[in-house]
Amino acid sequence: MLNITDHNPLISERLIHWYQINRRILPWRETTDPYIIWISEIILQQTRVAQGLDYFNRFITRFPDVQALAEASEDEVLKYWQGLGYYSRARNLHTAAKTIMQQFGGKFPTDYSEVKSLKGIGDYTAAAIVSFAWNQPYAVVDGNVYRVLSRLFAIETPIDSIQGKKEFAELASALLSHKEAGLHNQAIMELGALQCVPQNPDCSTCPLSDVCMAYLQQNVSSFPKKQGKTKTRNRYFHYLYIIYKGTTWIQKRQEEDIWKGLYQFPLIETEQPCGWEELSQQEEWEKLFHGCGNITVQAITPVRKHVLSHQTLYATFYQIEVEHTGDLSSNYQQISREELDSYAVPILIHKYLISLDL
Ligand code: SF4
Repeated sequence: MLNITDHNPLISERLIHWYQINRRILPWRETTDPYIIWISEIILQQTRVAQGLDYFNRFITRFPDVQALAEASEDEVLKYWQGLGYYSRARNLHTAAKTIMQQFGGKFPTDYSEVKSLKGIGDYTAAAIVSFAWNQPYAVVDGNVYRVLSRLFAIETPIDSIQGKKEFAELASALLSHKEAGLHNQAIMELGALQCVPQNPDCSTCPLSDVCMAYLQQNVSSFPKKQGKTKTRNRYFHYLYIIYKGTTWIQKRQEEDIWKGLYQFPLIETEQPCGWEELSQQEEWEKLFHGCGNITVQAITPVRKHVLSHQTLYATFYQIEVEHTGDLSSNYQQISREELDSYAVPILIHKYLISLDL
């Protein structure tokens, strides 16, 4: 392994020099406002820069500061987040904004542990905020940094192991320029995003190629090491788009599960794939349509596959007309069909709504 103490200044200087020439101009880089940095970091944790930029601009235009975010309703925050996924992150942003208003007098805390105490802010985000905003010496370790460090030092420890997390955090800290912590952190992240990319990086043009262990061993593609994938779970969702005289029914997801706080059509979930006939014999179906009189199925979509990090959803949408409202309005919220567009829904439902062309 490279001797870090020998190479620390050299690596950091080269990283910063490379960054100043090659960096992308992005709105959240042109500021030291911790609020802007925070929002951009949370958005970028789940999407690429090109797509994230649109979300970021819309979000910041509507919620330009902590106060605006804290005072908004959760429904509206989720609506602005719609399509980004990981909705708990949007709910956490909202909660943290309220905490800043209530506990810190509306001023973003500058102390690392106080920043980390805010809901949804972990080591990475706290380090990004305090180093980018105030140049505090906390090293960031995101996916890009893991990749760069694992290759630079040819580290065999899996990045997704407990030991790996500890080792990489220590290494990133040892390498950090204390004088220019913010720039150093941005530089190493940008090197991972633009130069030390996952597949076939062009090492010949890399500023670190002469000290990169993986490159010198001609073994770049075998880093970073990973422990192995976590098992994914299959779920089968049957959404019921029920129509009665220009109205339909929705509900807000309340359980501690994916998409908490978002809206959806009445849903029946099954353990196994299940066709229309089998579905209509389920007890839940009977309960749902109790008192609804004649039920006419107008359309059934093909199964839509939706992949999340640890689960794969197989969703089918059933468009159904009912003769009476029955028990539906006691269990679900009745709205006009035109209103559907104003509710925050999972992207899976959003795509279905677009296909309906309401
Ligand atoms: S030489 Fe190649 S593998 Fe090493 S840090 Fe640079 S781009 Fe990454």
